[in-house]
Amino acid sequence: MSKVIDVELRSIMKKFQNNIVVQDFNLQVEQGEFVSFLGPSGCGKTTTLNMIAGFLEPDGGDLLIKGQRMNGVPPYKRELGMVFQTYSLFPHMTVAENVAYGLKLRKLSKAEIQERVKRVLELVKLPHVADRYPKQLSGGQRQRIAIARALVIEPSLLLLDEPLSNLDAKLREELRDELKRLHQEIGVTTIFVTHDQEEALSLSDRIVVLNHGFVEQIGTPEDIYNRPASEFVHTFIGKTNRLEGEVAGIEGDALFVKTDGGLLIEARGGGRYAFAPGQKTVVFIRPEKIGLSDQPVEEGANRANGKLRISSFLGSYTECDVTLKGHSMSVKVQKLEKGMSFSPEKAISCSWEPEDVLVMPVERG
Ligand code: ATP
Repeated sequence: MSKVIDVELRSIMKKFQNNIVVQDFNLQVEQGEFVSFLGPSGCGKTTTLNMIAGFLEPDGGDLLIKGQRMNGVPPYKRELGMVFQTYSLFPHMTVAENVAYGLKLRKLSKAEIQERVKRVLELVKLPHVADRYPKQLSGGQRQRIAIARALVIEPSLLLLDEPLSNLDAKLREELRDELKRLHQEIGVTTIFVTHDQEEALSLSDRIVVLNHGFVEQIGTPEDIYNRPASEFVHTFIGKTNRLEGEVAGIEGDALFVKTDGGLLIEARGGGRYAFAPGQKTVVFIRPEKIGLSDQPVEEGANRANGKLRISSFLGSYTECDVTLKGHSMSVKVQKLEKGMSFSPEKAISCSWEPEDVLVMPVERG
């Protein structure tokens, strides 16, 4: 069976005055998919979401919802549910009245409104706050009500613009899980804007990584994390060690890079790029992929002795700054070797696997 496409962006472009802020944005969102727009502040996430919602008009390209061209169609005719970063509930209305608002506009019968409001409040697990006013709710509860209000109209598309970013860390995580559950339960096609990579990784079927108005990569969380299309994507999605060097040898699918400090790194070649001996490269290894030991190793590819500089205990792991051949590197240790302790200037050794090394050509410009 062919996939149903709920939202399609075809070469969408947006400019403010002469400043292009979204360029050549192409995307197809399938029915039931959860897609995140991820990127730093100012990269064009909200602008794109607002074009899908109809609050802004594209200056180029076509926008389709359920196969219909939507350029020029006002927001209220798009049947979308939207939740913003700030709680956008009406303060003078009770929770039930807030949730019922969109249904009243659609002139549904009183009985049906009551029934739908009751159902959606149960869905967000807040049936007991129906008669309260927004100011009598916690921040997390207000956002749940905002989500309920967006869902009650049974939208064809749910648009979420950083709905978790005003909440404290624990609530954020709770509501993130809640969003995931809701999406699994009702399966509404959802577009979620965030600058938080963990949120995007944990919630999305696919992530669109944006940078300066350009799409850097579209892929599953796994793709984005393990097979980044650019240095920007790799560094934006999580902490990493970046080392520069040049290709010292190629043997079958093994690619050897010697860093400027003399560290020999083996990676798996044959990926996205073709390399030639002597070529300048940049190498990335994530902190959690490096093993740390207090026993010296015989040095070789992906094995080197060095020194511990600082360690910070962070509960579920310890973050260590180490020096290897003059390179300052970060190592995330989840499980300590038996009897091992951390003390500054302690001799240590590090090792990692070729599969965990990412090599890219040095980006020009
Ligand atoms: P944030 O996470 O900070 O909201 P964002 O990725 O959502 O960032 P946008 O709000 O889409 O970014 O903004 C993209 C660019 O467009 C920014 O450079 C911003 O300054 C600019 N911009 C947004 N709205 C307008 C406007 N109404 N007039 C002029 N420039 C605008």
